[in-house]
Amino acid sequence: MEDTYERSISGEITKDDALKLVNSNPFDLFNVANQLREEIVGEEVTFVVNRNIDITDQCLIKCGFCSFRDSIGYNMTTEEILRDIREAVNVGATEICLFGGVTPEMTVEYYCNLISTIKTNYNIDIHGLSPVEVFHAAKTSELTIKESLKALKESGLDTMTGASAEILVDSVRAKICPNKVSTAEWVNVIKEAHKMGIPTTSTIMYGTVETWEDRINHLLILRDIQRETHGFTELVPMTFLNQNNILGMQLKGSSGLDDLKVHAIARIILGKDIPNIQASWIKLGIRMAQLALCCGANDLGGTMMEDKISIAAGASYGEHLPREEMFKVITAIDRMPVERNTLYQRV
Ligand code: SF4
Repeated sequence: MEDTYERSISGEITKDDALKLVNSNPFDLFNVANQLREEIVGEEVTFVVNRNIDITDQCLIKCGFCSFRDSIGYNMTTEEILRDIREAVNVGATEICLFGGVTPEMTVEYYCNLISTIKTNYNIDIHGLSPVEVFHAAKTSELTIKESLKALKESGLDTMTGASAEILVDSVRAKICPNKVSTAEWVNVIKEAHKMGIPTTSTIMYGTVETWEDRINHLLILRDIQRETHGFTELVPMTFLNQNNILGMQLKGSSGLDDLKVHAIARIILGKDIPNIQASWIKLGIRMAQLALCCGANDLGGTMMEDKISIAAGASYGEHLPREEMFKVITAIDRMPVERNTLYQRV
């Protein structure tokens, strides 16, 4: 394990190294990941005061793990979106996390108009859209990915989410989200965004049909992209939630042990390349998120205010963790809470 620490710090972890970690003693694994976290980012645990806004639950992509699509049947108006943002601004939010959908109405023009209207009314960071939304909006608008990203950036899009990555292995995607962008298409949108100066998060959605080798291949793809573009702000591991979706009828999702191993192995593979690893309280629950913060993670994500997507899939840990609660959760594990913005700058 000492060798693992050194190889991670120097960015030399190979696929074989990572595969060996999967069957190693988990306590040794967690210990190395925690030491790496200490060395790379120190004792601070960051979080962002934000609000999720899911514009619509209409979506043509029909992913097998999605519990959100058509769960209510709504489309928010611009006025409703602005009202939600006002509420977030009133509690000091610095970020709006804007989730769209894939429908014929969600064109590049629609997103650009919405984003510039928000920016005209509020001085807040807009973290929105993922590669699947950009890819389909571009197609519907008959624009290239580059043209679409340029228009979105000029309208005021600050950063993009790295959602829709799931597992970047096409044989897995064929089983869990066959209509979604392919691995190559996801990578292309992300790289174009980074080149255009739009930073993004990176994500991994694990716990469906993928193997550990698939997870490791996915993390290595993210590391390669980061070494080329330096555009990822963080990794957000997302455990599969199995309520109210087709895949959930056959699959239970990952164990708590696997949840912790994903965070630890991600820390070891990504080393200094992607120094920020999130423990998502809304997916894991607060106690598991605290444990993940002791196994390599260093960020507790957002205060959220709402997350219709996770709630529809069975997350039962609430939708809002206000700033004071974030402080309590972090200090309870003897770490130092620090509020950040989307780009990991202190607020
Ligand atoms: S996960 Fe996203 S892309 Fe897939 S069906 Fe649900 S809303 Fe659509």
